[in-house]
Amino acid sequence: MGLKKKLKPKKTLRIIGYVLGTILIIIIGFIIFYFYERYQLTELGYTVKASDEILKKFKKSYVMEIGENKTLNAAFESSDYKEKYLDNYSKIKYQPHKHLIKNINTLIKRKYNNNEISMILSHGTDEDVTEFAKRKQVAYLEEFFTFDYAKIKNYDRYLAYMNETGEDEENTIIQVNIDLDKEPYKDPVITDDYSCKVLVTKHRKLKDGYKPKDLITIPQEYVKGEEKVKGERVAWQNLKRMIDDAKKEGMEILVNSAYRSYEDQVEIYNEYKGLYGDEYVAKYVSTPGFSEHQTGYGFDLASAKANVFSTTKEYEWTIQNSSKYGFVHRYPTSSEEITGFSNESWHFRYVGKKIATYVYENKLVYDEYFAMFLDKESN
Ligand SMILES: [Zn+2]
Repeated sequence: MGLKKKLKPKKTLRIIGYVLGTILIIIIGFIIFYFYERYQLTELGYTVKASDEILKKFKKSYVMEIGENKTLNAAFESSDYKEKYLDNYSKIKYQPHKHLIKNINTLIKRKYNNNEISMILSHGTDEDVTEFAKRKQVAYLEEFFTFDYAKIKNYDRYLAYMNETGEDEENTIIQVNIDLDKEPYKDPVITDDYSCKVLVTKHRKLKDGYKPKDLITIPQEYVKGEEKVKGERVAWQNLKRMIDDAKKEGMEILVNSAYRSYEDQVEIYNEYKGLYGDEYVAKYVSTPGFSEHQTGYGFDLASAKANVFSTTKEYEWTIQNSSKYGFVHRYPTSSEEITGFSNESWHFRYVGKKIATYVYENKLVYDEYFAMFLDKESN
């Protein structure tokens, strides 16, 4: 009471002012310091949200030492963050998955190492990995997943197929990816790819109403017989060049058949079924919707003189040269198990020069190429 009286109001105000000023300077200093710290982290590539968490958890020096790291960023952004797994996060390869950190935590608990976890994450979608993480640790992980095109969701099918067929890991992966472990024509993948990369097999059906966008009629002088034959424009342009070049070397190649509509295929299918029975059509005739001829990219070739193409010099020439024009021999004898079709010496398919050359040089069939390099969407 007495003290209060002794102090003059002016002096009291001044002291309050000093105190407040000092506090303010400390606060401003702290804010500047904080923003500078955060700035350093965001400069490094961390998001504001992650940076705030890094500072809150006092992990700045740890993070600065590691540098930019997307998985670490995701970990600090995530409510699933676990401090004890910090070292793992920084060593696991990032994938843009919604439950990335949660799945990493589960996989660590399942005793997978960092490399294995990176491998698992890179071979499936967020959902695939979430499903996979539910199971106990599996064997043969490295054996399968060193291949880029292995899919984590197919793991059980790989194992079953390998046991059943005795194929090696690589063939197992390719063949399961193109659904060879499934029954033909049952639950097919539906495709609406109109490009020359479209894959049609006994397991991949063209969408209802599928019709090539750019069909042209092939000049009759290139056709064997009287009927009008159509094909996809670019495919035909390349085939024409091929036939013309072959002619300069004394080969007479003609087109027997090319584009067939769904309705045409129904007709052919029924006709052959009536003539030769179920077994024959299963081997040689595509079920409507499953025929490459419906894409406009499939061509049945013939020699002008002989009736059996496979015994002609034209056949030999075409096998050796067609890849230069963008065509693959679609159903060779050596790959009946994969294509599901008995040898069709006459059937060539346009896929473009680059792919055709790769397929030819590596002695593959197009199904295999597709499984290895193009089948990303259903990863
Ligand atoms: Zn054909």
